[in-house]
Amino acid sequence: MEGKELEQLIGKNFHYYQTGQVADYIPALAEVDPKQLGMAIYDLDTKQLIEGGDADVRFAIESMSKVPVLLLAIKDNGIEKVFQTINTEPTGFAFNSIMNMEINHRKHPMNPFVNAGAIATTSLIAGKDADEKFERIISFMKEICDDPDITLNEEIYHSESRTGDINRSLAYYMKGNQMIEGDVPEILDAYFRQCSVNVTATGIAKLAAVLANKGIAPWNGNRLITEESATIVKSIMTTAGLYDESGEFSVHVGVPAKSGVGGGLMAAVPNRYGIGVFSPALDPFGNSAAGIQLLKDVVKELDADIFE
Ligand code: GLU
Repeated sequence: MEGKELEQLIGKNFHYYQTGQVADYIPALAEVDPKQLGMAIYDLDTKQLIEGGDADVRFAIESMSKVPVLLLAIKDNGIEKVFQTINTEPTGFAFNSIMNMEINHRKHPMNPFVNAGAIATTSLIAGKDADEKFERIISFMKEICDDPDITLNEEIYHSESRTGDINRSLAYYMKGNQMIEGDVPEILDAYFRQCSVNVTATGIAKLAAVLANKGIAPWNGNRLITEESATIVKSIMTTAGLYDESGEFSVHVGVPAKSGVGGGLMAAVPNRYGIGVFSPALDPFGNSAAGIQLLKDVVKELDADIFE
């Protein structure tokens, strides 16, 4: 695909932002301009990056952080320990629902991409306190997104922290039921910060390209994660990457993907493409409204549906 074609598809799908709304349960996200749409595609075959629209605009990574933090938790603890703590089952419940821990005979959070599972994942990151954990998380994000300019968005972080009582309740529930270990305020502080990191669609496309490329950064040939962890993470993205819209997304788009309430979407097409999308107006499930429509068109154009 050429940049020109991508710009055309962005133009065609732009109006879908009107079908969504920016997240407002985190006050700082409510201030983001909904009229934005951008995409970056890293082509593993040509090693070219195709960018269009608002691909270079910085926005909050939010739930997409659950992917690099899971990869780092696996690096720190190994696959076995991580998935003894967190299951890998999809859930039909909302991302912040307490049901993601209760309706589960194994008494673990159901998967690493619901908030309970993500907080449990952050609890596994090495580091004596929130500062140390977060320093390791942000360094890893910079490396895997190939983006040294990633920073913490202080305004979003304070907004998340001030309004994060549901996340607090999930974390204390897990601690009280011996599902997680460690100091809950420190774990939550690291979690709120990891969600508030500013990324671009281009950086997200590069992260997805590492997953698509079996763990090797295609821009310099360095292995950043094991092939097995890249495979596992893509599987969980397929079954649980878009909250309780994951099934519909698989049917209509058909690529391993992860969304965030900041309006981001990452998609990793095995051995072919890493894709990053940004458009902040969200559909009722909390996924980027225009982003999904654009991704659907692009996947079709690239003939990239993994189930075809
Ligand atoms: N920081 C958000 C939260 O914890 C992330 C949610 C999301 O992007 O799904 O509620």
